[in-house]
Amino acid sequence: TEAHVAAVEAARPLNAFILETPEQALEMAAASDARIAKGEAGPLEGIPLAIKDLYCTRGVATTAGSRILEGFRPTYESTVTSQLWRDGAVLLGKANLDEFAMGSSNMTSAFGPVENPWKRKGDNRKLVPGGSSGGSAAAVAARCALGATGTDTGGSIRQPASFTGIVGLKPTYGRCSRWGVVAFASSLDHPGPFARTVRDSAILLRSMAGYDPKDSTSVDVPVPDYEAALTGDLRGLRIGVPKEYRLDSVPEAIDRVWQQGIEWLKQAGCEIVELSLPHTRYALPAYYVIAPAEASSNLARYDGVRYGLRQAGDQALTEMYEATRGAGFGEEVKRRIMIGTYVLSAGYYDAYYNKARKVRTLIANDFRAAWEKVDAILTPTAPSAAFAIGEKMDDPVAMYLMDVFTVTANLAGLPAISLPGGLSTDGLPLGLQLIGRAFDEETVLRVAGVLE
Ligand code: GLN
Repeated sequence: TEAHVAAVEAARPLNAFILETPEQALEMAAASDARIAKGEAGPLEGIPLAIKDLYCTRGVATTAGSRILEGFRPTYESTVTSQLWRDGAVLLGKANLDEFAMGSSNMTSAFGPVENPWKRKGDNRKLVPGGSSGGSAAAVAARCALGATGTDTGGSIRQPASFTGIVGLKPTYGRCSRWGVVAFASSLDHPGPFARTVRDSAILLRSMAGYDPKDSTSVDVPVPDYEAALTGDLRGLRIGVPKEYRLDSVPEAIDRVWQQGIEWLKQAGCEIVELSLPHTRYALPAYYVIAPAEASSNLARYDGVRYGLRQAGDQALTEMYEATRGAGFGEEVKRRIMIGTYVLSAGYYDAYYNKARKVRTLIANDFRAAWEKVDAILTPTAPSAAFAIGEKMDDPVAMYLMDVFTVTANLAGLPAISLPGGLSTDGLPLGLQLIGRAFDEETVLRVAGVLE
């Protein structure tokens, strides 16, 4: 823990943390030592972690990357983090993120952008770590933390894992409790781990997963020993390669890494199956209707009364709401609220929101049909490598396109992992994505363990 506290300090220029908690880390590590001495070590005893600042931590400021939560110290601990502490893990600090997890670059954070520890060959420009869990990914990639928590609503664990050359896992919807995690889009939000290896991801997931009666969408199914699933044996597994994920606009290196992955799986004894997931191209538009719709509703609670910031408290209630929300939310959050309230409004509800929900069902059905033929699906994680800080900020639609390969698994609630697949021509990491059946994280991890 001491070494990691020092690494966090040394990596401050990356801006990966909104809050460092060194005293707490050392205290927790001392408690770990005591448990180890008594022979009562938990599975994560003494392991220092970065926690995305979307997870509520008791008595420790939680910002969601927004000004509107200024001064908010939760009186409760999220279920996922409390399970991590139960198993002995140590809190290094709260990791930077896009405001309310809305973004793919970490540039919408009210606390400034995070820098990716990677640089392009022969180019000194600072790159984004991806988003929204950019601080968590950068902290693990820069060796500040042994693991981290993230949340993935449309790709926010997998895309930053791809951009920083680490492993990011989005479990099945309902596998990890959302209780105490600040809500963005409740039907799409998935807590999950970041780690440097597939094995570490398996170990972290086991602690994070499990039924929680406090989350009405938590599912009461047993949590397997994910590490035991890493048998290294893939013989006879059928791996799908969906043609809809082959886009002309994607750099050739991404296709090369994908082909390489296919080759490796063949050599490991898998059968490769060409697949069609015909509704894939409607996933991104459906996501950018459903996610803002749910966000506009979830963010209604930030009114200057219940949490954090309050502006113009001497005004009438409506003026106080307006002043607080006007000052507290950043541009991207305001854009999402506007889109969300629009698609939910009378007269447009059927045309947009209801239509998007129907598309969501079609996408889930595409996958359901695929599971008749394959055990897992291999695709690239993102359509590009890390880009420069400042790029794409004036073009929200270009930014939304970053999620084209990841949102499908959120809409269908399926487990998906990103693991390092290879390098771009200018030397940046590129991720491969594996998607699996609902609650079959084991197969996803098993295949990933052989590919990594
Ligand atoms: N980039 C997507 C968005 O901005 C996904 C974010 C996420 O997964 N939290 O909505």
